[in-house]
Order: sequence, then structure tokens, then C-alpha cells
Amino acid sequence: MSENELKSEYLKEIIGRTEKINASEPEFIQAFKEVLISLEPVILANEKEFKTQAFLERLSEPERIITFRVPWLDDSGQVQVNRGYRVQFNGAIGPYKGGLRFHPTVNQSIMKFLAFEQIFKNALTGLPIGGGKGGSDFDPKGKSDMEIMKFCQSFMTELQKHIGQDVDIPAGDIGVGSREIGYLFGQYRKIKNSYEAGVLTGKGIEYGGSLARTEATGYGLLYFMREMLKTNDIQIEGKTVIISGAGNVAIYACEKAQMMGAKVVAMSDSSGCIYDKDGIKLNVIKEIKEVKRERIKEYLLSVPTAEYFENTNNMPSVYKIKADIVLPCATQNDISLETAKLIVKNGSVAIGEGANMPCTNEAIEYFQANNVLLAPGKAANAGGVATSALEMSQNSMRYFWSFEEVENKLENIMVNIFKQCRRACDEYNLGKNYVAGANIAAFKKVSAAMLAQGII
Ligand code: NDP
Repeated sequence: MSENELKSEYLKEIIGRTEKINASEPEFIQAFKEVLISLEPVILANEKEFKTQAFLERLSEPERIITFRVPWLDDSGQVQVNRGYRVQFNGAIGPYKGGLRFHPTVNQSIMKFLAFEQIFKNALTGLPIGGGKGGSDFDPKGKSDMEIMKFCQSFMTELQKHIGQDVDIPAGDIGVGSREIGYLFGQYRKIKNSYEAGVLTGKGIEYGGSLARTEATGYGLLYFMREMLKTNDIQIEGKTVIISGAGNVAIYACEKAQMMGAKVVAMSDSSGCIYDKDGIKLNVIKEIKEVKRERIKEYLLSVPTAEYFENTNNMPSVYKIKADIVLPCATQNDISLETAKLIVKNGSVAIGEGANMPCTNEAIEYFQANNVLLAPGKAANAGGVATSALEMSQNSMRYFWSFEEVENKLENIMVNIFKQCRRACDEYNLGKNYVAGANIAAFKKVSAAMLAQGII
């Protein structure tokens, strides 16, 4: 459904209001509209009550936004300054939970869209966690290990005032992996003089991390995809797959897709993509990205039969390659309407959003109008945060589970998330619109928790 088709006066009013008071935040407005428009059947059923309660006004406003200065010393002795953020959007279901992103594009709009998405994603996991997100416009590319450590220490020196294992629990996201989490945790522990293992997730196994957390988002995406395809009588085995990105989510999505018998033929980074018609050799990608931290083009040095295509201005090159299944696992707004048209023309049957908001709202509408199945990010990539919550459980118990135990729990959670989306689709006659299904299922939980807690 598009904005013009809305019947609810309250929804129209609230979308207009949000656009007006957040005019400089396009990503937040995009994420907000995508959710709100799909909630119309639930809002219409109780419009007067929601309006009297100013419920959507409250939902649209973060409980708190913290911004701060992050000064650090580079290797040449020059002081550098970046901006840090933590958006504590909604704590109705549990302590704020969401990753930290270090990337030069980070700004308040991107932080707010990610934190907003996180509220609903976390609700879908069924675990007691609220929605938050944070990060900095710091660019880790080309920085030495020492510079990364100094930045992380300075960032945590301020952030530690606002987080805690029962308050707000950050984790990784773009540009924040196990190395950064290690430095952040070390600084937190030093300042607090207390071993609060549950204050950060994505930790190393040696100091309170959970087995299978590294794999969780990518693996979870494939579990969701398998369930969605199965419901539509499609087998994942034997299908060709393209994946945008070659970071944490992309690598483990590739690994699970291969384990399920699919053939991944392309992966990418922000420079371009590699195409290997014989199937991606994941050990080569892991070496390039997890160990050497180099460009994906290096793949050709190990696999000379593969091809490399540079990104063009209008479209990431990976989407020009034909495949049955498309897994955007890089960043937001990777798939524009134009890219969506090409994907449909290429005959793809399903899209699985490993990244947060990788499709524009126009692209989503186009996929749905052309019967391409779409697994929405806030449901399909929830395996990462779900396993982070399992990491917190293990930290609280001062115990750990085996890889198999964690992965089994992850699989059950992902199957259950898909069931919630499907149930909402059935209840509201939404067909295969799992985007709306996920939004509605999550909204019902969040709204029940918020309303039960009074005017907060
Ligand atoms: P990483 O930093 O590990 O990897 C990001 C990948 O995307 C890199 O290959 C990067 O290439 C590529 N990329 C391409 N274009 C861009 C761009 N414009 N901005 C940033 N990256 C770009 O991040 P993750 O794999 O952790 O995250 C990927 C996506 O998944 C994000 O949308 C994130 O929010 C989402 N997500 C992550 C979760 C997790 O557990 N990590 C959980 C749920 C969602 P290059 O190296 O050239 O920059």
C-alpha cells in the first residue's frame, strides 16, 4: 500500500507531523513511513484510542538521544575529533539493545532509523530487549590497530556513562567487529572496575562471548529464507544466490546458503563485485576480509577464473548478475527502484534483507507488485540480536552453551519469527506481504507493553 491510499486520518496526520519535525532526517522518515503505512489495519481497528493516547506521537520520539565529542590521537601525533551517538529509542520491552556503527556516513538520521527498526526487530525475537542504536562518523578504513584502539577507548570513555547491563547493551554493526568490541569492553571494565560481561555483546569467546554469535545474523537470514520459500513450495537447494557486501552478515549468509545446497555466485564490497560462476570459495573471502582486511578484488589473485566488476554510479554491480535469490547484506538503500526492476527482469524469486533497510520503499512496492517474495530485514536479520540476547543470558548465568545449543535456539527463534509474520499476514489478509506481517506482529507487542506502562 502507498501513502496516497491511506484511509486513517490519524495516520496521515502523524506522517505529516513526523516529516515536518524531522525534515532533515530522510532515512528516519523513510523507515517510519514504511512501518506506519503498513500498520493501517491495526490503527483503524482502534483509531480513537490510539489518537487520544497520542500513541504514534510517542512511538515516533526517541526516549533519549545522546551525542558527544570523541577526541583521539592519530599515529602522526595529530588530534582528531569525531561525533559519537547513542539513540535510546524505546525501552518498553527491556533494556535498550542495538549495535554501534562506525562509518563516515553516520549521522542522526541514520542512527534514528536504525534504532527505530531495532525496536520492532527486538520485539519479534520474543526476548526482553528494547530498541537502541549508536555509533560514530569515524572511518575505520586505513586506520592502524593503535588508532582503532585509541578511538574506541575515547568513545567508551563517554558512552560508559549511559550504558549498563540492565540499561543499554551495545553490540557491533558496520565497522564494529570483534576487534572493536574487545577494545570497547576493555575500556568499560577499566573505568567501572567491575566485570559486567553483559554490558556489550559480540565479545570474544575468551571473555564472555557466545559461540555462534559471529555467524548468527547470516545464518538466521537463511533460516528465515528457507521457511519463507518452504511456505511457498520453493526449495532453496540448487538455487543460485547473489550477496551484496562481504562483511560479517554477508560472509555467514554465504556459508549457510552453501550448507543448504544453494550456489552463491557473487559477493561485493563498496568498490565492486566478484562473479564466480563455479561458486564462491568462501575461505578465500574470509582470508581477504576477516584476516587481511583488503578489497574484494583480491579474490582474483586466488581464483583467476572469476571476474570483477567495478560499481557504477547508478547501481552496485552485484545486482546486474542473474540469480534466483538476492541477499542484500551491505547497507541501506542499496536497492533502488531501478535496481529492483532489473532484479525482477532477471527472474529472481526472492529477496532476503540481511542489511537494515537495503531496499527503498519504492523498490519494496515494486517487488510486491511483481510477486517477488521479500523477507524484511527487521525479521530476517533478527538472528544477530537474538543471539546477542542469548549471550546476555549466558553472562547472567555465568555459564556457556555449545555451538549446537546456541544454533538450535537461533533456528527456533527464526522459525518462530517467520510464523509470527505469516500469522499476521493471515489475520489481516495480507497475502505474502511479510513486510507488513512483521511490522504488525512487532507493533502489537510494543504497543501492548507501552500502553500497559501508562503515559510514558
Ligand atoms: P560489515 O562492516 O562487517 O560489512 C559491511 C559490508 O557492506 C562491507 O563489505 C562493506 O564494504 C559493504 N558496503 C558496501 N557499501 C557500503 C556502504 N555504502 N556503507 C557501508 N558498507 C558498505 O557490516 P555488517 O556485515 O555487520 O553489516 C551489514 C548490514 O547488516 C548493515 O546494514 C547492518 O546494519 C546489518 N546488520 C548487521 C548485524 C550484525 O550482527 N552484524 C545484525 C543485523 C543487521 P566496504 O568494506 O568496502 O565498506
